[in-house]
Amino acid sequence: MNFRILASRFFELTSAFEKLNKKSEKYNTEKLSFDCVNDPYLEDGTYFQDIIVTGMIPVIGDFKLIGVLEYLDDNTNIVKCIPGENMPEEYRDNDFFCDHCKTSRYRKEVVVVQNNLTKEYVQLGKNCLKDYLGISLEGLVNKFSWLQDAIDNCSNPDFCSGGRITYSCNNRLYLATCLKIVNSIGFVSKGKADNDSCMSTSFITSEVVFGTSIKSVNNLINEHSLRDITDGDYSFVDEALDWIANVDDKGNDYLYNLKMISRQDEVMSKHFGFLASLIPAYQRYLSSEAEKKVRAENQKDSEYVGEVKKRMSFDVKCVFIKLVDTMYGTSTVLKFIDKDGNNLVWFGSGAITDYDLNEEYTIKGTVKKHETYNGIKQTQINRVKNESLATA
Ligand SMILES: [Zn+2]
Repeated sequence: MNFRILASRFFELTSAFEKLNKKSEKYNTEKLSFDCVNDPYLEDGTYFQDIIVTGMIPVIGDFKLIGVLEYLDDNTNIVKCIPGENMPEEYRDNDFFCDHCKTSRYRKEVVVVQNNLTKEYVQLGKNCLKDYLGISLEGLVNKFSWLQDAIDNCSNPDFCSGGRITYSCNNRLYLATCLKIVNSIGFVSKGKADNDSCMSTSFITSEVVFGTSIKSVNNLINEHSLRDITDGDYSFVDEALDWIANVDDKGNDYLYNLKMISRQDEVMSKHFGFLASLIPAYQRYLSSEAEKKVRAENQKDSEYVGEVKKRMSFDVKCVFIKLVDTMYGTSTVLKFIDKDGNNLVWFGSGAITDYDLNEEYTIKGTVKKHETYNGIKQTQINRVKNESLATA
């Protein structure tokens, strides 16, 4: 049996099925389960998903269950029809009549079955099912009735179940939407949003996925086409999921938790903020990898220069400046690269401010030693003087 549900109620339906299966255990019938037929799709601003329910065959001997009519106090009926079957419209305002015992009295529910051979519809009170059909149908009817209620709750965006609704979302859909938002307007963490009284990325993502009545979010949706998720968006998300699934999380609880949350097909609303952080985390990883690659390419041909203890001039570019606190006080690590790609490093005492990153200089220094650092040959120099500064 096929149904359509709200993508956001997927998790709720899963727990509804668990409860339903416990209830129907006493009828000793097959367990109900459902599978998704497709990925979530957008319709009128809401994400839906098609599911197929297995574990219930509505055929009993020569008869087929068509549905259940539930009577309301004002003599009207609610129709619960097996998907794909057709409940004749006259049953919408039928009385409480039972075709078996030929009596009309108050009944909470009546069952409509169809004879497979004659195609005739028969309406039966629940107590007469066994007498008429020869087998007990109560388990099947109850199971169907409960199933229909569970599906109704999870398929209509305007329905609210009695209890608190647990929202969930297909994690690829959530992440792809999140990616579009981050790429259009940047990432805003929950903490920053609270501080600056603005909307966090995960908040906007939920509004975009589940539908929103906030005008500024609707403007963002239109301006940046936030709901037009492309195959490219999904493949970036799959890469990010692959990265987190294989990341080394030793000693890092954040990465461990993110890994556990990301591997769920459905993520619950309380973890949305966590899940959203996968996008900037993966983007940071990508840019640090790119930087490493550039650095490795710049440095791979580095050779030693000069002679130890000799003082000489170098034409270099400054590629690294970092202030470090040591037990002897502040010092500055500066790295230079000459025209041939050779690396020089200087551990200068104090805060050295004569150099700017990526600027070229002529410097004079004494070669202290030749060494390898991270597998790359570098020349350590000291007593460095900025000659460019002197002539300027
Ligand atoms: Zn009857």
